Amino acid sequence: MILTTNNLSKSYGQQKAVNHLNLTIEKGSLTALLGPNGAGKSTTMQLLIGLTSPTTGSVSYQEQVKIGVVFQTSVLDDMLTVQENLQIRAKQYSKVSQTKVTQLIKQLGLTNFSKQKYGLLSGGQKRRVDIARALLNESDILFLDEPTTGLDIQTRSAIWTLLQHLQDEQDLTIVLTTHYLNETDKADKIYIIDQGALIAQGSAKEIKQRYANNLLTITAKTPDKFYSLLETENIPVLNKKTATVALLPATVQQAIQLLTKYQAEIQSFEFQAGTMDAAFIKLTGKEVR
Ligand code: ADP
Ligand code: MG
Repeated sequence: MILTTNNLSKSYGQQKAVNHLNLTIEKGSLTALLGPNGAGKSTTMQLLIGLTSPTTGSVSYQEQVKIGVVFQTSVLDDMLTVQENLQIRAKQYSKVSQTKVTQLIKQLGLTNFSKQKYGLLSGGQKRRVDIARALLNESDILFLDEPTTGLDIQTRSAIWTLLQHLQDEQDLTIVLTTHYLNETDKADKIYIIDQGALIAQGSAKEIKQRYANNLLTITAKTPDKFYSLLETENIPVLNKKTATVALLPATVQQAIQLLTKYQAEIQSFEFQAGTMDAAFIKLTGKEVR
């Protein structure tokens, strides 16, 4: 455990931007704070990095850690090249050598555009440079506020891959915010926040299992016979006595077992695994965006 919060709260007037959050961030983990616009993600981030102070509650770091932050809007200079930007930033830390800049350029795949002006880079390239900048001081924990917002799907996925590499190779602890539900599959731990409060936590798998139903629809060769067979099974059935039956298997495994067991009776089937979207709708009563 590298970081915990205890009933962390922040109000702006009557508005409870963050409301009694209890978070636990494990060392070396990739944690995602997930929530719609206005949920309180950025405010939580600012509290975690000490940029604002809580109204009540607290943040505690369990060990001496160096933090790096990638803000939603970049702090780099558009008119300078990638290399110049990083070199200037490195000089601001007395202990950071210029070889660290060279090393990060290589490690984050910036070599091909290191001599280009930052302002002329694509969104994904800029994000990589922002991450390099945040890692200059040998951070133990990296905070990123919506690092993938505004990027196309492939670039978003590339940023996640990069973050996972950093996590694996350097035992970096990563905390990021996102409002993209489907990205969070790659996180070790997800905290879903709505209106400043925590409404669910766990891995994507756990959250989906808990809050999103799997749906298995089966068209039987002889529906009456199939229904009587199903009565001996311990799986919730949605619609009875129609040609196609809708079942709610708890796991993919349970669906496979059922399909295998009754394959002689089944004409066709369709399976939809519980999605993060379904879980989110169930939790918040609304869709993201
Ligand atoms: P998110 O990053 O999840 O979109 P924010 O943390 O930016 O959400 O905002 C959470 C809520 O707090 C919003 O209702 C927002 O309007 C409000 N808020 C955030 N910062 C301030 C501020 N400096 N002053 C007043 N209200 C704020
Ligand atoms: Mg925000």
